[in-house]
Amino acid sequence: MAQDRPLFPTTLAGSLPKPGWLAETNKLWPQWKAQGAELDQAKCDATLLWIKAQEDAGLDIVGDGEQARQHFVHGFLEKVDGIDFEHKVEMGIRNDRYKAMVPQVVAPLKLRGRVHAMEARFARAHTTKKLKFTLPGPMTIVDTVADRHYGDRVKMAFAFAELLNQEALALQADGVDIIQFDEPAFNVYMAEAADWGVKALERAAQGLTCTTAVHICYGYGIQANIDWKNALGDEWRQYEQVFPALAKSSIDQVSLECYHSHVPPDLMKLLDGKDVLVGVIDVASAEIETPEQVADTIGRALQFVRKERLFPCTNCGLAPMDREVALKKLQALAAGAALARRRYA
Ligand code: ZN
Repeated sequence: MAQDRPLFPTTLAGSLPKPGWLAETNKLWPQWKAQGAELDQAKCDATLLWIKAQEDAGLDIVGDGEQARQHFVHGFLEKVDGIDFEHKVEMGIRNDRYKAMVPQVVAPLKLRGRVHAMEARFARAHTTKKLKFTLPGPMTIVDTVADRHYGDRVKMAFAFAELLNQEALALQADGVDIIQFDEPAFNVYMAEAADWGVKALERAAQGLTCTTAVHICYGYGIQANIDWKNALGDEWRQYEQVFPALAKSSIDQVSLECYHSHVPPDLMKLLDGKDVLVGVIDVASAEIETPEQVADTIGRALQFVRKERLFPCTNCGLAPMDREVALKKLQALAAGAALARRRYA
């Protein structure tokens, strides 16, 4: 990263709540409230609103809040040929943690064109801050569609990785500074993630000269995930299997859960050499963190992450939350980082 950046640059995992006039609220797969050109305008309006809100809160790296996509995986798939969206099927995803209606892969995969050009260019035109843009990771995509064509998870993951790479290179050309791939599936299929998941991720990021990141979380703050986390015991060691492979990879940054999680913080040591986006904001609770709590979490992480490598972040996306709560959490994130700069500089 550039030398002129502040200590502890703040950033988000990705998604933000959609305003009620754009889509249904508090939902992971919300229905849009408009269609066609009117919907595009509403998506851009919401993107602008959240860029301004992130800037006003004092965040250093901003994003589009994923306002233009219905869901973080299916938003990408909607522009891919070879996928049947007309006949969705129910499938257990994340190792059957929850059921979702998913589209089916029925033919060789091919991009129909650009996926996120509209919102990426729009966001770029309206902020001078560093701009981060998120895409789903190949392994997580494979875990969120039904395969009726490839018959092999690895083969299909690399097919998706190629398409992701095309879009990522185009996003870079649009002026995006950081491209992040979301891979919650890495926390579910740890051995596979270390074996081929990271390689598929590197294929998706191939040739990028902008900063690259991967976000690995324990999911949105929905009940199925809260129940799953409660079943994981006192120590969540999932990261332990994947981080060594990521440390050796070409990916620059790793976004992880920290605050209110049972992840042993010393696992962050495994990411030596990488920027670490430390989750200091809980997305499973509407309670607003205090700046002191955020700064304390940063202080704990500093035992295991070099100062210049630490980026305070949210644990995951804020999409299903109340808009007011999300806004206050952005402010808490920035205020906590500012306090940490005074404490630990
Ligand atoms: Zn997440």
